[in-house]
Order: sequence, then structure tokens, then C-alpha cells
Amino acid sequence: MTTEAMYQSLGVSPEVYAYGERVLKALEGRFKEIDETAEYNQCKVLAAMHKNRVNAAHFAATTGYGYNDDGRDTLERVYADCFHTEAALVRPQITCGTHALTVALSANLLPGDELLSPVGAPYDTLEEVIGIRESVGSLKEYGVTYAQADLKPDGTFDYPAIERAINERTKLITIQRSKGYATRPTFSVQQIGDLIAFCKRVKPDVICMVDNCYGEFVERIEPSDVRADLIVGSLIKNPGGGLAPIGGYICGRADLVERCAYRLSAPGLGQEVGANLGLMPALYQGFFLAPTVTAGALKGAIFAANLYERLGFRCVPNATESRHDIIQAVELGSAEGMVAFCKGIQAAAPVDSYVDPIPWAMPGYDSEVIMAAGAFVQGSSIELSADGPIREPYAVYFQGGLTWQHAKLGILMSLQKMKEKGLVPEKLPE
Ligand SMILES: *Cc1c(COP(=O)(O)O)cnc(C)c1O
Repeated sequence: MTTEAMYQSLGVSPEVYAYGERVLKALEGRFKEIDETAEYNQCKVLAAMHKNRVNAAHFAATTGYGYNDDGRDTLERVYADCFHTEAALVRPQITCGTHALTVALSANLLPGDELLSPVGAPYDTLEEVIGIRESVGSLKEYGVTYAQADLKPDGTFDYPAIERAINERTKLITIQRSKGYATRPTFSVQQIGDLIAFCKRVKPDVICMVDNCYGEFVERIEPSDVRADLIVGSLIKNPGGGLAPIGGYICGRADLVERCAYRLSAPGLGQEVGANLGLMPALYQGFFLAPTVTAGALKGAIFAANLYERLGFRCVPNATESRHDIIQAVELGSAEGMVAFCKGIQAAAPVDSYVDPIPWAMPGYDSEVIMAAGAFVQGSSIELSADGPIREPYAVYFQGGLTWQHAKLGILMSLQKMKEKGLVPEKLPE
């Protein structure tokens, strides 16, 4: 059986497959660059594992208090060495990215301090953490105030506004690397470095924290290489490599990370407690795979942008721009388009492929939302998934794919479903 026939047996027509191959032809150079970055980052991860003499004893499960958990402590040193930081807190007890960010913020901000975001509004879930939207337990409730400098209309940093916003109470500056589900550009690590350098010139002792979600291993350097004091992320995104079933990390300056450990467990206990519950093999192996998994997801995002842009759909980032995270938005222009796209992603999934995604009212959203995900780990967004609110501009946000081959099938299936609904031209571009 040919590969084309294999795709046909999965539901992708020869025309859609052939169009995909035409699009791919032009991407060889970019894919090679992505592979080179993955190769570099694989070396980085392995060097950290070698240095810390990772061995089978580190995979043993611990329970209860988890005292003397050598596997857990060594994993933290591996993260710290890989990201070039003094210390790391990497724990299954950190339940998600929002939790990791909450720990980092609440550990390092005290009553009377001010938090500043110099890059506009933060990720949705942080609004309640900070108290931008009122919530029980927010930083605001504890007397921590919040200031924000918006980006300029072209998506660049508004340095005069940032300088004006930094005052004697500004204790911590939070910089979100990925655009998340906003429309601004994602920042390169170098841009983040420029911003950090500026902030530290204005106020040398200010703590610069980077929300690194979706950005890990996309480039050869991380924000911790450009003077970020803390970098924070989720293990069910890039650094978990698809194998981590839960967890988050905080890497950075030892004194700041220690405060995080005291906040996560209890003052005085810190990093000494926290059983690994048998998750060490998944966390080590996931980190080992993370550079190549991230590369596969990146290829998927670039393939989708090129496939859909040629059909006249606006893509953010566009087909040719450089990448700093793994998220791809495709503006499909109609509710039917979003539904068809998501049906295709779902149909390609290894899990729940037979499920039919439909738009649904979700708490906290003012319009219906559609989601496609067939993941091994619930909510994992390093696995192939797509979602979006059913409203103008009818954009789906698409990310992940544990293998490039799976991402490719998902994207071809999305186009197949669009084509079956008559939402793309009968004859696909040459
Ligand atoms: C995903 C994400 C978060 C929150 O992570 P959860 O694991 O969903 O809580 C925060 N910031 C950014 C930029 C993200 O992409």
C-alpha cells in the first residue's frame, strides 16, 4: 500500500493529500532549521542529564513526605542546568501553568508591592490570580497592586510607558512570552532580553519573571539566558514532552525559587517535602523527548499556516514569519468553518477519534466555544488540539502534536472536512 492509499483509508482524499505534498515541498528549508534547533536542544538536555548522572535509581517512587527523594532533587538539577539557572522547582504538586505562575507571584510579592505587566494584559486565567477580575484569594486581596503598560499598536514595547509605570513599589515584572490566545505577536527570547535589560536599567533590583508557557525549546536559548530571574511553565505543554501527566516548573535565582518552594509546601519545609508518587520516569523521559516533540508541533503549526494561507485564510503567525511559540491561529471566517476544522482534528486523534465536537456554552465565555482534543493526558496542549470561541473573526487556535506525522494527518483531515462542506474551492491551488 502506498502512503497516499494509507491516507485515503484514514479519510484523506488523494487531492487533499497531493495539495499537502505541494505545500510541504516549499517547507523543506524551514523544517531543516527546526530539526537543527531540536538537535541543539537535545544536546542541551542530554548534557544536563549527563552532568547529574541520571540513573535508574532516580526513577523510584516515593510516598508520604518524600524526604530524601533523590529522583525529584536530581530532576530539579537537570532542569536548572538545562535552563542555566541556579535553582529549579519541578513538581507534580504544581497542577498546571496557572498554578506555577500563582506560586511564583504569591511567593515573591508581599503586601504593598506592585506587580507590573509591560506587555499588556496577561493570560486569561491570571486575571483572577492578580485580581483584575475580582476573586477570592487574589493577589489584590492580599494588598498587592497591579499595573500594566500596553504594547504599542504595532505590537512592540512602549518603553516610555513602561518607564513611567515602574515606581518605588514595583517589585516584580511579569513578561508573557507567548501571545496565548491574544492577537499580539509572540516575543522572541532576544526581544524579551532587550525588555529585561531596559527594566533593570530603570530599576536594577526589580525581579523579572517570564511566563514561558508554549515557548520552551522553540529557540536555542530560553529567557533565563537573557537575565530573566524566573521562568515558569507547565509540564503538560512543551517541557513534559507529552509524557508528563501533570506538573509545573519554576526555574531561576536560588533565593526566589526557595520562596516558591516555601509557598508551595510550607515555610520551613520548602523543597524538602513532596513525594514523587512514581511520576519520575514520565517526567525524565518527557523532558528528554521535549525538544523533538516541540519540533513536531512547530512543523505542524507552520504546515497549517502555509496550507490555509494559500487558500485565502488569514493565519497568525503568517506562513513565513519566524516562530517563538507553538500556537497557530487560523481565521476561518465562519462558524461552519470552525466546526469542520475541529471535526477534522478530532477525527485524526489517537483517543476519542469517533467523537463529534460541537459548539457549546462554557462558563466564563460570552459566546459558544468549540474544542477538539483526543489526548492521552486531559487538557494537554502539547498534544494535537484546536479550539476557539464562535465569534468574529471565527479563528481556531491550533497547537501541538506529539509527532509531526500526527499533526500532518490532523491538518489534512481538517482541510478534508472543510472541503466536504464546500468551504474551500473545489480545485485546490497548484
Ligand atoms: C497555558 C498557559 C498558561 C496557563 O497554563 P494552564 O496550564 O492552562 O493553567 C499561562 N500562560 C500562558 C501563556 C499559557 O499558554
